[in-house]
Amino acid sequence: MSEPSNQVKGWCPGALRPMRSGDGLIVRVRLTGGELAPERAAALAEAARRFGNSLIDLTSRANLQMRGVRDETLQPLLDRLAELGLLDASAAAEQVRNVIASPLAGLDPSAPVDVQPLIRALELRLIGNDRFHSLPAKFGFLLDGGGVLSLDGVEADIALRAEDDAHFRLEAGGEALGRVRVEEALEAALSVAERFLALRQPDERRMRDVVGRIPLPSPGGIGTSKRKCLGSTRSVGVGWEAEGVEVPTPPRPSADPPPPGEGKDQSRLAGPHAAGFFTAAAPFGRLDAHQLEGLAGVAARHGATLRLTPWRSILLAPLAVDVTPEVSSLGLVVDPGDPRLAIAACPGSPSCLSGEAPAQADAGRLAPVLAGFVERGASVHVSGCAKGCARRTPASITLVGQGGRYGIAFDADSKAPSETEPMSLGELTAFLAKRLAEKSFKSSEQR
Ligand code: SF4
Repeated sequence: MSEPSNQVKGWCPGALRPMRSGDGLIVRVRLTGGELAPERAAALAEAARRFGNSLIDLTSRANLQMRGVRDETLQPLLDRLAELGLLDASAAAEQVRNVIASPLAGLDPSAPVDVQPLIRALELRLIGNDRFHSLPAKFGFLLDGGGVLSLDGVEADIALRAEDDAHFRLEAGGEALGRVRVEEALEAALSVAERFLALRQPDERRMRDVVGRIPLPSPGGIGTSKRKCLGSTRSVGVGWEAEGVEVPTPPRPSADPPPPGEGKDQSRLAGPHAAGFFTAAAPFGRLDAHQLEGLAGVAARHGATLRLTPWRSILLAPLAVDVTPEVSSLGLVVDPGDPRLAIAACPGSPSCLSGEAPAQADAGRLAPVLAGFVERGASVHVSGCAKGCARRTPASITLVGQGGRYGIAFDADSKAPSETEPMSLGELTAFLAKRLAEKSFKSSEQR
């Protein structure tokens, strides 16, 4: 096994390449397909308690990361992860396994395509070819089988989205390249990755930087045909669309994954679902060892497994009973109307060394007053500093930490100038309550 590199390494920590933060090392555990059997979940909870500070973050790529790991507990933690079969052979292999998949893969009979066999197959192909190890750290793949919990709106550099039981839509950088047969989908996706590597300049890290320069080679040779790409038409390889079917124009994905079922079935956000699963949502994507252990117990008692989602929640499936009381007693969100689900908040200080305010804790404190805005359709972003890790796109209300206080901006991202002097939490609460009472607030989402 490779020696862990105990260094800060940009944005994507792993287990073998942890990131140092304000509360210790962050160790990310990459779970194939977000799958976590109850006994593994309980073991990870115990490891988070023993080797870290008990805090666990759920990531937008359906992984989990333990916080507060100490230098002296890192190696024992890695040893435990290896015992659990959750440690890669090298940091490169770990990093290249960057695959988001349908959270209900293999459990949803309504899904046109069961992507479960493809998930590990794709990971193994990525691990097994050193060439792919040079893909940038954040470069990722997505496998969406459709069904009850489709991944509409979740972006990836290369995506396969089921169109029917025999075809995927192949997307690169958010652009639809064509349809591919299910049995050819893996090769097609990997070919696009090869093209990215061949075409990228050193400073180009995402598929969207490169996709405009592709025509893709067809399996039978170089050829091009006009394809519709999110409203535009571009040349792509004919090999991606063997049956000459026009590619439908999908909605352009947003830069931040919206909550599942946004504008559709809100019961996906939290609580029980008629399709036989339960969503346990963690406020701002953070839970503790006790909560993860508790969820593992609930799942085990009811014969379910756990699946992490890109919406930073945990599914329990399949379920024949409503487990709301059991999950609620753990302090997790079970109400899809909980305002905290509409608030994006990064850890902030002291967890993050760059944090100028405890964003996550303060987002919880501000949730009651922010609820009034959320009810009016507003989105809210509470950021520990201007970097804006929790949300890259503008929000109706954006609060940015500045020296222990917060600046506020409306319909802006975290880098926008504040519209007020920085305010304390008390001042902010009064300001927001007044704004709400004046009924002058209208979010851009309502216009
Ligand atoms: S936005 Fe700033 S405070 Fe928040 S996690 Fe990112 S760097 Fe840290």
